Amino acid sequence: MSILVTRSSMPDFEEYCEEIKKLWDSHWLTNMGVEHQQLQRELEAYLDSPHVVLYTNGHLALENVIAAMQFPKGGEVITTPFTFASTTHAIVRNGLTPVFCDVDPDTYTIDADKIEALITDRTVAIVPVHVYGNMCDVEAIDRIAKAHGLKVIYDAAHAFAVKYKGVSSVNFGDAAMFSFHATKVFNTIEGGAVCFPNDELVETLNDMKNFGIRGPERCVFVGGNAKMNEFQAAMGICNLRHLDAEIEKRKRVVERYRQHLGNVPGIKLCHPQKDVTPNYAYFPVVFDGFRATRDEVFARLGEQNITARKYFYPLTNSFECYADLPTAGVEKTPVAAYLADRVLTLPLYADLALEDVDRICDIILGE
Ligand SMILES: *Cc1c(COP(=O)(O)O)cnc(C)c1O
Repeated sequence: MSILVTRSSMPDFEEYCEEIKKLWDSHWLTNMGVEHQQLQRELEAYLDSPHVVLYTNGHLALENVIAAMQFPKGGEVITTPFTFASTTHAIVRNGLTPVFCDVDPDTYTIDADKIEALITDRTVAIVPVHVYGNMCDVEAIDRIAKAHGLKVIYDAAHAFAVKYKGVSSVNFGDAAMFSFHATKVFNTIEGGAVCFPNDELVETLNDMKNFGIRGPERCVFVGGNAKMNEFQAAMGICNLRHLDAEIEKRKRVVERYRQHLGNVPGIKLCHPQKDVTPNYAYFPVVFDGFRATRDEVFARLGEQNITARKYFYPLTNSFECYADLPTAGVEKTPVAAYLADRVLTLPLYADLALEDVDRICDIILGE
């Protein structure tokens, strides 16, 4: 039987049918209907966020919140290449230049000690990523941003439900973006959100995601279309009911992996972070000095129909679409380059059987 790297959490079929039944009564399928409104309220409460603006996907949420900050064109944004294409693309598609900072060798998030050396008079913002649900050094980033007058927008796509010192991951920086893509810990099929404290951003983001239309006879802004529809929101409402239980199940899987792989020479795991409540989103393994290379392990698992993921490989600063970017080049971010060549994220989802974890580890260890 094949095992994929992830498997989307879904409510019972009947539960979802019950939730969308009202859509057959109202025939109101999108444009901020009752499901959208309910999910927004529930997420504001669950995430302890003053404002949540829902989106049809995480990428457009990130693109829009960067645009909403109205940075001057050509401004520089300090970010990392050890991320999904979306992060870097969202910066570039806004006419801004990504400046790649290296990552920390333990958390794989932006190395806060290396940020200040990259700041110039063109720097406008920092876009750090909470990689695998590991929290960035939010306190150091906050200090640096304040000292230099920079905005901080977190790509929190991996950090849904993660807390630092008991505080929700959304409450750091000027804004945090989530992805609710099918592969994430919490999904709305496709979907995303921006969370932020600033009241003024609410209207701007709502304009951006709905053509700048404010009522039947008013259009105030050249916005696009990035609305979350009612079916997506209904999926979110159902999935949110079960999220804490799903995270508990993920935790069991992660603990099983740790039992098998925790003390193997040549295999490096992420340490649980101090003061962080994790969401067990991913299980990354770094192979360095192990008897097989990352690519050999990947292939060996593949032969048994088990899909692991080289995540994140390649680095975004090596993408061919960025070949002309003066800041491109993996040699500028050696820690990220080291990780990208050695990391594998193993299959992880709530319903992954512990016997399957055992089997995956047997294959990795060559037993
Ligand atoms: C998933 C993801 C995104 C993009 O989200 P979508 O909802 O797929 O558009 C952005 N950044 C990171 C780090 C992601 O993992």
